[in-house]
Amino acid sequence: MTAYDPNNIFAKILRGEFPCHKVYEDDHVFAFLDIMPRAPGHTLVIPKAPARNILDVSSEDFAHVARGARTIARAAKVAFGANGISLHQFSEAAGGQVVFHLHMHVIPRHDGVALLPAASRKEDTAVLEANAAKLIAALKQI
Ligand code: AMP
Repeated sequence: MTAYDPNNIFAKILRGEFPCHKVYEDDHVFAFLDIMPRAPGHTLVIPKAPARNILDVSSEDFAHVARGARTIARAAKVAFGANGISLHQFSEAAGGQVVFHLHMHVIPRHDGVALLPAASRKEDTAVLEANAAKLIAALKQI
């Protein structure tokens, strides 16, 4: 398998070299809004440890990501009144992966509302800021 590339965009976000709309962080994971959300509140949870995807991540780091995704999912239900949550994880190009630092998509869902196509529209910064604030507030309630 191809080696982890420390210059991928999410590694730069983790190092603070590239901006993001952060919603959550602990010792092991970092969560921020997807800039091309497939639904409002679409969040990415990533391990702080380098891992390309499901094929090289340690079981411990993947467990940390799963725990972080659970936290974000519960906050998203509160923040956006979601009826459900979709978790997506794509590994390698054949699996649909575009950015090669492991990430779990946490996508709030509403009854009868289809996901937007992937990477179809960059969201306005003001909307991302507002949605990050809603999630951060909800994280204090769960
Ligand atoms: P994938 O690798 O296919 O699981 O998806 C990569 C995701 O990262 C897509 O949903 C993109 O919209 C998202 N994305 C790419 N660059 C950024 C960025 N700088 N900040 C936030 N999300 C991003």
